[in-house]
Amino acid sequence: MDDLARARVARMLHHRKAGLGVGEPIVPSISLSTSFHLPQTQGATHIYGRNGQPMWDAVEAQLGILEDAEVVAFPSGMAAISAALFVSLKAGARVMIPSDGYYVTRLLGRDMLAPYGVEVTEVPTLEMPTADFTGFSVVYIETPSNPGLDVVDIAALSARARVAGARVIADNTTMTGLLQRPLDLGADLVVAADTKAPAGHSDALFGHVSGRDPVLMGRIREWRRQTGAVPGPFEAFLVHRGLETLELRLERMCASAQIIAERLAAVPGIRGLRYPGLPGDPAHAITRRQASGFGFLIGFELASEAQAEAFLAACPFIVQATSFGGTHTAGERRARWGDNVAPGYIRLSVGIEPAEALWDAVSAALTEVGAQIRA
Ligand SMILES: *Cc1c(COP(=O)(O)O)cnc(C)c1O
Repeated sequence: MDDLARARVARMLHHRKAGLGVGEPIVPSISLSTSFHLPQTQGATHIYGRNGQPMWDAVEAQLGILEDAEVVAFPSGMAAISAALFVSLKAGARVMIPSDGYYVTRLLGRDMLAPYGVEVTEVPTLEMPTADFTGFSVVYIETPSNPGLDVVDIAALSARARVAGARVIADNTTMTGLLQRPLDLGADLVVAADTKAPAGHSDALFGHVSGRDPVLMGRIREWRRQTGAVPGPFEAFLVHRGLETLELRLERMCASAQIIAERLAAVPGIRGLRYPGLPGDPAHAITRRQASGFGFLIGFELASEAQAEAFLAACPFIVQATSFGGTHTAGERRARWGDNVAPGYIRLSVGIEPAEALWDAVSAALTEVGAQIRA
């Protein structure tokens, strides 16, 4: 992280200070009120709970500081992605989405956008830098892609999209606004699932859209009000709390992921190892240039579905769950959801366990299932 990023984290932690009166609570209060005192409509900060409420304001302020952008909070990552796509598209428009990205985004394209007359084109992340954007209204990227961990050069792609007249929407879930800032690199909108590392404790679904065009962000806000895709105040509270420790958690998670990935690279029974922090990884050079960390996701293949499942079951410090970015290291075979990866491909989300304890457990489980560990 550079000095500017550190300053943003510090500002985020103190974002409430300027607005506090003497004796007021340091921590924002969860307001459950759906209605607000309105003897007249002029000058009201809040009108009705679906339009806005204080706990959303607090989270949007935090995320806005991290991203230098206007932020609209949503009840899940998919709600944020839907808002960005539906607001950007209309019948007859064309959208390019990654064929190897988060699978529910592809489902949304196929089952929800296409029936309204939107033409959805799926392109592998690695082919997007050379794809022809002519005639596309939106180029939607996810970098690194989930679960394959391929990346695109966001600045180069955004510049090309701009020339073609296409809006770039970037799913920044895997990196978070602390490690990667697509808006600085030319993306028009960022979407993210704060369900993952920002909330960080596997106990809240949340998402957001951010952007720097006030007119476009006004449309996103209006989408939330009109469709009613509104986050709950308690979830917003949990995300507000999670964001306060995001930088600390990410630091541990990324450092541990680097250690685990380097050691996995020395295990003969492992193939297809992917971690952008490994100098030999295809994503290394671009990630180094456009992000301030390599993330906490590792991909690798064991010999078979059976060996991968046995490994996950044998390791006491891996929770077998979908999702990532939590405090506990989590792993799963992505092929079980139909992702286009080898049957033995495991996505590991490194948690905040002390790295050596985690590695001891991982290496013991690898030995137990017959993936050899080199001495
Ligand atoms: C999890 C995830 C989403 C969806 O987020 P939800 O909060 O589960 O709706 C979208 N994109 C990516 C890359 C994700 O990992």
